[in-house]
Amino acid sequence: MSTPAGWAPTDRRRSSVRWDVVVVGSTNVDLVLTVARHPRPGETLIGGSGELFAGGKGANQAVAAARLGARTAMVGAVGGDPNAAVALSELTAADVDLEAMARVPGPTGLAVVTLADDGENTIVVVPGANAAVTPAVVEAARAVVGGARICLLQAEIPLEAVTRAAAIAAAEDVRVVLNLAPACQLPIATLRLADPLVVNEHEVALLLGWLRAEDGPSPAPAVTGGTPATHAEALAAARALRAYGVRSVVVTLGRLGAVGIGADGEWSLPARTVPVRDTTGAGDAFVGALAAALAAGHPLADAAATATGVAAFSVQRLGAQASYPWKDDPLP
Ligand code: ATP
Repeated sequence: MSTPAGWAPTDRRRSSVRWDVVVVGSTNVDLVLTVARHPRPGETLIGGSGELFAGGKGANQAVAAARLGARTAMVGAVGGDPNAAVALSELTAADVDLEAMARVPGPTGLAVVTLADDGENTIVVVPGANAAVTPAVVEAARAVVGGARICLLQAEIPLEAVTRAAAIAAAEDVRVVLNLAPACQLPIATLRLADPLVVNEHEVALLLGWLRAEDGPSPAPAVTGGTPATHAEALAAARALRAYGVRSVVVTLGRLGAVGIGADGEWSLPARTVPVRDTTGAGDAFVGALAAALAAGHPLADAAATATGVAAFSVQRLGAQASYPWKDDPLP
């Protein structure tokens, strides 16, 4: 990732920075089965194909960042089964540092995805080794987290580990990028460490509902409370999160693009118009690219513009990690 013209590093920990991005998160294999239609309970169907891919939100985002040239390390866990090699394959190919990856007995995280001809899918995720990414594992990786510009988090590992990673990052003066996916209830103190908090339209609606129930109505002007369907509604939701004390917010809206709010003001970006083949992992492409661009010193709105191009590149290709661009690939 190139450094923007005129950007002068002000990082006072500069001498101790080893990584642009450290991801503390999940590593899975995705078993993708294609079927003409979904089976009914008790029914056996013959599928079309069955393929194993490297997956997990954490690993997806690490691969997206690393392919763009960000020096990236991953903190997580794989199991002792043959799937571990599949789960780590794209991370290794993208040169992600795996020194802080634990190997634990039992299975690697597994997502079984059933893709039907009508485009609907069902997903069952078995956390496996991801459940072993405890606060103690994160604590043991303190030097790795503290040696990064950006600590990138999602919610597919135990939530206490996410909270601990955010706290360590903040204590070490490392910028936290938190992708609250899947939607979950983290302490408000953790949400306030995020800069930015990245959520999709469904996650932001759920989160605002929880915050309203726990902390009372947002001091920001009225939000409808439903799932935002326009840039204006998503910006209102982002403002509401900011009013709860979140430093900056990005709301992604699928093919409608993304909006954001932060210290530099508000922005909204349309998605790029491209022929869509497979949107699996587009959100992770966006978040990984956003982190890489922030680590290179770009302001949030510029980083989101890069991330929009990276995500548009990925939706034109099959799969998640395999669909992400490398540094010199031209973006749409
Ligand atoms: P995921 O399905 O991977 O969990 P998500 O819900 O987290 O995704 P989305 O909001 O669907 O994330 O997509 C993230 C970004 O990807 C969008 O902001 C947009 O820039 C890009 N994107 C998604 N879908 C499309 C599309 N059909 N065409 C172009 N860009 C897209």
